[in-house]
Amino acid sequence: MNTIEKFNSHVMGSYGRYDIVLQNGGGCHAEDENGKAYIDFGSGIGTNSLGYCDEQWADAVCRQVRSIQHTSNYYYTRVQADFAESLARAAGMKNMFFCNSGAEANECAIKIARKYSFDKYGKGRHNIITLVNSFHGRTLCTLSATGQEVFHNYFFPFVEGFINVRANNIDDLKAKLDDTVCAVMFEYIQGEGGVLPLEREFVDAIFELCESRDILTISDEVQTGVGRTGKFLAGEHFGKKADIITLAKGIAGGIPMGACLAGEKCADVLTPGTHGSTFGGNPIACAGGLAVLDKAANPDFLAEVAKKGEYIKRRLLEMSEVVSVTGMGLMIGVELKDRSAGDVVRAALDEGLLLLTAKTKVRLLPPLTISYEEIDKGLEIIGKLLK
Ligand SMILES: *Cc1c(COP(=O)(O)O)cnc(C)c1O
Repeated sequence: MNTIEKFNSHVMGSYGRYDIVLQNGGGCHAEDENGKAYIDFGSGIGTNSLGYCDEQWADAVCRQVRSIQHTSNYYYTRVQADFAESLARAAGMKNMFFCNSGAEANECAIKIARKYSFDKYGKGRHNIITLVNSFHGRTLCTLSATGQEVFHNYFFPFVEGFINVRANNIDDLKAKLDDTVCAVMFEYIQGEGGVLPLEREFVDAIFELCESRDILTISDEVQTGVGRTGKFLAGEHFGKKADIITLAKGIAGGIPMGACLAGEKCADVLTPGTHGSTFGGNPIACAGGLAVLDKAANPDFLAEVAKKGEYIKRRLLEMSEVVSVTGMGLMIGVELKDRSAGDVVRAALDEGLLLLTAKTKVRLLPPLTISYEEIDKGLEIIGKLLK
């Protein structure tokens, strides 16, 4: 039986996969079972932030595997302390809870918001505002938080307590921010929703309205965080810092990890026994995370990410099939005139290029370490496909 047949007879069919079996990689290149090489403009949905098997990262991870791979959260580890200190400094936040994914990081944020409000105001102030077209994860609670009707199917009943507001509609926000609301959760750039940045005025309104009513802000930076947009956090583009920030995807360079970061206001909400995760803060993930921060928290590196993003945008806009290019840094959405994004992504595979879609757009999330030479190679393929 070949790999794909074997796979499909034993792994549930919850994904629409491409018929490619990836086997190894280095930098921005992946190779499949048959030895065909691909330039990777998706980095595993932004997870392989330093590309495949970055040497420093791989060394740090291997060292950790050989010293202590895991222990329970009843004990402390040095590597988790080091990573938490570095991440708190890079993000300008007080402390954090570690988990294993973006959905879990958002679950933690939701629990913190509700408990903060319960501790201070008692019951009844539990609702969380999320935006139409948002994406916050696949667990029942984060699916409920996700403001897209297509996700609210099959799995009834969903979790109560989420109210959707239209993105960039300040009146809608004002109308729904009543005294049942404890938090507003949003992505600065809606990723899965189509790489759509929020308008500055709307972000300003969220922060102003929340501040005056002691309503918490939660920025879901699972996709935008850790350098992806050319700043360490996308909130920096807007001059804002939310009370709670969630990170995952690229945080540990391709090892499962999520983090829910809190500022002073929410730093002490979670008390012993109120939340937990068996694998959260795993030492191997923390070692990977330290290697990521070593690059992604460096201002010179971030400036390069921003520059590369501008370069890609400019080159894409020169293509006549491209209608618009959205996003920041190396998080890029490409709107096409006549071609279907799905067809382009499929055709790109034959040409040796890995791409993503976001709704009707082609989405690029290349490794933050990608070189201009590799960018040019990938763009050349895109240009050829869009001719
Ligand atoms: C990917 C994503 C999530 C979910 O992360 P998982 O690790 O798949 O649970 C949540 N929010 C945003 C903005 C994301 O892009």
